[in-house]
Amino acid sequence: MSIFTKIAEGEIPSYKCAENDEFYAFLDINPLVKGHTLVIPRREVDYIFDMEDDELARFEVFAKKVAIAIKSAFPCVKVGQAVLGLEVPHAHIHLVPMQSEKDMNFANPKIGLSSEEMQAIADRIYQEFLKIK
Ligand code: AMP
Repeated sequence: MSIFTKIAEGEIPSYKCAENDEFYAFLDINPLVKGHTLVIPRREVDYIFDMEDDELARFEVFAKKVAIAIKSAFPCVKVGQAVLGLEVPHAHIHLVPMQSEKDMNFANPKIGLSSEEMQAIADRIYQEFLKIK
């Protein structure tokens, strides 16, 4: 079972930002910026482009809602989207609120946030997500 499956099933704690029956969103534990969020399918699949077309379409539409919630909670120029998947073998979309393209540089040093700050960020995104659901 992948670490992200365990997160989606609540076996490993995470800072929940959004969810539905099929997908789950939570804060990246090593964020590039405040609001850096990961979106995953609950179903265990490694490579995003192994997903069937209809599942991939629903995944992207869910990510769109999460991005809208992030932008409401953390005003930014745009929410950037990236898929790497080099570290964790469970499909995930990175959503990163951007003030400039530099915010999407995954080689940047990560910002350190306390658990209280992480929880407050996740709660803000979750409240915005509930409004658009
Ligand atoms: P990649 O697979 O290259 O997209 O990188 C995996 C991402 O998952 C990294 O940005 C990590 O900081 C993040 N990550 C790894 N473990 C956790 C975790 N337990 N909770 C939240 N984010 C995680």
